[in-house]
Amino acid sequence: VTHEGHDTVSGGRVYVISGPTAVGKGTVVSRLQKLYPQIFVSVSATTRPPRPGEVDGVSYHFLDDRSFDQLLASGGLLEWATVHGAARYGTPREPVERAVAQGRRVVLEIDLQGARQVRESYPKAVQIFLAPPSWDELIRRLRGRGTETPAQQARRLRTAREELAAESEFDHVVVNDEVQKTIDELVGLMGL
Ligand code: 5GP
Repeated sequence: VTHEGHDTVSGGRVYVISGPTAVGKGTVVSRLQKLYPQIFVSVSATTRPPRPGEVDGVSYHFLDDRSFDQLLASGGLLEWATVHGAARYGTPREPVERAVAQGRRVVLEIDLQGARQVRESYPKAVQIFLAPPSWDELIRRLRGRGTETPAQQARRLRTAREELAAESEFDHVVVNDEVQKTIDELVGLMGL
């Protein structure tokens, strides 16, 4: 039996949080998890090298191309995509399925291509788009982060422009102006 609005009888549900580069998805999701430890935040696999301060298994599972290929071939990814033309990212399937079966709220912080795949595999997933207050503010945040070269920044902004155009595919749009206000909105959407 599947109850209306839930993925399983136990009430577990998948929440996709997507949005352009540097909009603040990482900050928002880690704050949310700290406040609500019962949420399961999926740790993605990626072929991107770690940034300073990123811990393997916490920020991401950092894999080489071969290991990513193997995980993919074994059906171990719920969705995956090449993002910003640079690296591959994917959601490990098993931990998500386990957490949903346990009735937990599961958060996937993934890009637009991944969000589209999840719409197929988890049609009841709640799809949330995190939007910047303005285009200028997005550029300011990306430059301020200082983790990408100017060429990488330009590449990310190109992707961002496409992603902003896809806002209407999402169930909810939350403008990330002030983090606490964003958290409050997400708490409302997730019924926390
Ligand atoms: P970053 O390199 O800045 O950590 O992440 C770049 C982009 O990859 C972000 O837009 C992020 O949402 C996306 N991303 C991270 N993990 C996944 C994943 O598992 N699947 C997909 N499709 N995108 C991901």
